[in-house]
Amino acid sequence: MKFLSGFIALAGPPNVGKSTLLNRILGRKVAIVTPKPQTTRNRVLGILHGDGFQMVFVDTPGIHKPQTPLHKSMVSSAQAAFKEVDIMAVIIEMPRPDPPELPMILGHLKRSKRPSVLIINKIDKGPKQNLLPIIDDMRIRHPFKSIIPVSALNGEGVDRLLKELTTLLRPGPAFFNPDTTTDQSEAFLVSEIIREKIYLRTRQELPYSAAVTVPHIEEIPEKKLLSISARIHVETESQKGILIGKGGNMIKAIGREARKELEDFFGLHVYLDLTVRVDKNWSRDPKALRRLGY
Ligand code: GDP
Ligand code: MG
Repeated sequence: MKFLSGFIALAGPPNVGKSTLLNRILGRKVAIVTPKPQTTRNRVLGILHGDGFQMVFVDTPGIHKPQTPLHKSMVSSAQAAFKEVDIMAVIIEMPRPDPPELPMILGHLKRSKRPSVLIINKIDKGPKQNLLPIIDDMRIRHPFKSIIPVSALNGEGVDRLLKELTTLLRPGPAFFNPDTTTDQSEAFLVSEIIREKIYLRTRQELPYSAAVTVPHIEEIPEKKLLSISARIHVETESQKGILIGKGGNMIKAIGREARKELEDFFGLHVYLDLTVRVDKNWSRDPKALRRLGY
């Protein structure tokens, strides 16, 4: 038996559960998840090591009509990912089976000429009989190799999904060592976990105006301590005020929640120094976008 492998893109509209599904498949969090659309900004790899196979999942920012330079960068990072993969896994959600972005995504799919599966996520959200008309409609719209209903939240259908994907793998090398689950650096993971807490705590445009960088991260083994300096970049003074909060309330809460998750994640004590800085209109400035990693 030859070893099987392949790159698989998780593609779909914003907020359908791409990152949740990736974390569920890996049994570990590699991508942040929030109820807000456009949480994922960069391409994130997650590697599943199986018996005789390796699947490299590519989580991508949701496909949508980009309106700002940041969104353009997000959508083009998703489109670039589609060109690198062997298999396309398109995700929609049962409660919203015909999102406005779908024609654009099916267009990418047809141009890519890759074998594809359709994943219908969030089947925990409604009665199963809602699935049949969706499946019938999607069969007409694209020749998917298979259509698999799942719940990334409770894991239903995920085993079947992995079985279907295994049948599409080709003989190929193991691209990553068995102990690697993601291509992200520690600093990137730290910045994403902080960004997730910002998304969960703040409202309106603030999450979208926040970026996080980690200028310093150092492990001090004798103290079992990870010492981190992180910087939150926002676009205006008033956003900075909101993010700091009354008497520093908001930033303290974000720091506390991020530190707790980071401690669980790394199994170390974490010292987290968080500062907030105004980078005027960074999400519209191509140079600033590059500096911040987009
Ligand atoms: P992405 O933008 O496609 O990566 O979506 P996320 O993974 O960030 O998830 C968006 C929201 O949908 C979050 O609030 C998730 O908790 C929620 N979600 C994801 N999968 C499921 C699911 O299977 N069932 C339910 N009920 N919610 C889900
Ligand atoms: Mg995501």
